[in-house]
Amino acid sequence: MKSLTDQSEAFRGSLSEWYAEAQRPLPWRTEPSLYRTVVSELMAQQTQIKTMLPYFERWMQRFPDFESLADAPEDEVLKHWEGLGYYSRARNLHKLAKEYVAANPKPETREEWKALPGIGPYTSAAISSICFHEPVAVIDGNVVRILARLTGDERSFASNGDAVKSFTALADELIHPENPGDHNQAMMELGATVCFKRKPLCTLCPVQKFCAAYARSDVESIPHIERKATEHIELDRAWVCDDGQILLHRIPDHSGQLAGQYELAELSHLNLTTPKNAPLATKTRSITHRRIKERIHALALSPGLEKQIRNNPELYRIPISELEKITLSGPHRRWVKELLETD
Ligand code: SF4
Repeated sequence: MKSLTDQSEAFRGSLSEWYAEAQRPLPWRTEPSLYRTVVSELMAQQTQIKTMLPYFERWMQRFPDFESLADAPEDEVLKHWEGLGYYSRARNLHKLAKEYVAANPKPETREEWKALPGIGPYTSAAISSICFHEPVAVIDGNVVRILARLTGDERSFASNGDAVKSFTALADELIHPENPGDHNQAMMELGATVCFKRKPLCTLCPVQKFCAAYARSDVESIPHIERKATEHIELDRAWVCDDGQILLHRIPDHSGQLAGQYELAELSHLNLTTPKNAPLATKTRSITHRRIKERIHALALSPGLEKQIRNNPELYRIPISELEKITLSGPHRRWVKELLETD
């Protein structure tokens, strides 16, 4: 079998022919603009396309361009992101809009985009290739999977980052010199709709004839990427619902995760230890490789507890009628709603 790079032109031809016919009519493709590409790329990090679509439409109605986003207050920006998680993306997008509006000249190349907040190697390559036709390849877990299978690469990688580094040269070599944006989008589309991690649709694949893993019927085991060990965490939270108000903790702005969002307070915020009686509810959530079990305990608002709340500037008693106006983390908004319904 000839190597993939020896057949790069034929490979690009099959891929682009397929993409022209098979691409999904996503709103940033049917009505393309630099701003819509940037927003879609940041929203799509860590979020599935079908989940982000309603958020994208709502975002575009409220913030239709860089200027309206740059002028918006941060609270409103975060509110429009609520439900997508990983809020640092929303903060970065807000900062990026301000920097973009102020920039003169405007960024165009991958290196210039990489200097803006929240823009890493993948996103900068996507923006510069799609919007400015720079011949640079985007490469993430999806593209790694396709390239590893096409080349039948059986090496083991310690992490996704290592695999990305290892396939970058090949991805750049395969890039379409005149139409790099569509080539990159076609690779992403192939990973999202055909070359699935499990049960890829090889019989429908437009580049099957170039695929070494398919030729030797060994597709699903490639690529070999070692998984990070799962970390198990347990937390105890307080349910203090009194006089139409709920006790919540505002996660400080300097916090690495969920900064500025509200969650039910932990018992440790109130200087309390885990009570002996059964919790009101036990919930679980996952953040990257961490599995978190959260026990929620019903507590009465005693004078001692009121004093603890007064002494901790991160704790707030928020009226139930105001909950829609603040940014609760996704799981906690769900849990608070459930608990209020059963209260
Ligand atoms: Fe992926 Fe199968 Fe296509 Fe190979 S033939 S690129 S494994 S979908």
